[in-house]
Amino acid sequence: MAELLADGVVVASSNQAKIGEIRRIVGSALGALVGQNELGIKSPPEPHASFVENALAKARHASASAGRPALADDSGLCVEALAGAPGVRSARFAGESAADSDNNRLLLEMLSGNNDRRAHYYCALVLCTAADDPSPIIAQGRWQGRIAEHPRGDGGFGYDPLFELADGRTAAELAPAEKDDISHRGSALRALADQLAQLQ
Ligand code: IMP
Repeated sequence: MAELLADGVVVASSNQAKIGEIRRIVGSALGALVGQNELGIKSPPEPHASFVENALAKARHASASAGRPALADDSGLCVEALAGAPGVRSARFAGESAADSDNNRLLLEMLSGNNDRRAHYYCALVLCTAADDPSPIIAQGRWQGRIAEHPRGDGGFGYDPLFELADGRTAAELAPAEKDDISHRGSALRALADQLAQLQ
């Protein structure tokens, strides 16, 4: 596995913050990381019902296009009282080009008067050595919380101002390193690093 990854891995994302986070947590196990946009690769559609299927589709597409190993993630917020919504539609909950504030407003509207505020963030990661890799590495992370009545905090992104932890703070009130330590994406990346370490 180490030799296959040594020439570099394409990350199926154009988000530099995400690529930096992957580098910090997974470190040298992946060799050089290059964002798919630097290779002119566009994101494929994400038509599937589960995060892991979408992450697999993104990783396969990036690997086929780049001709090298690829790492993809897919993540979102699942609200228990909404049967898991917004789920895989988290980024476009309030419409195809919805802003985070639109998504957050819709979520509060849909939960209005509901006392069951339980929710979790979920992140699926897929690392494939080639588009037809029969045994990709799959890791997941989950972060349990509840949906606050009103947004609070200036940090993070997406639903973070509404995602409340057991200590009463929202994810948008955490320092970035503190969020990495407990978040769905941080947990999934550490699980991926553990699996890679076992294969070295
Ligand atoms: P992506 O898979 O990282 O692009 O995230 C998809 C969508 O899920 C984002 O646009 C957000 O709406 C939501 N999401 C995923 N992770 C987070 C997070 O850590 N904080 C807030 N929102 C998140």
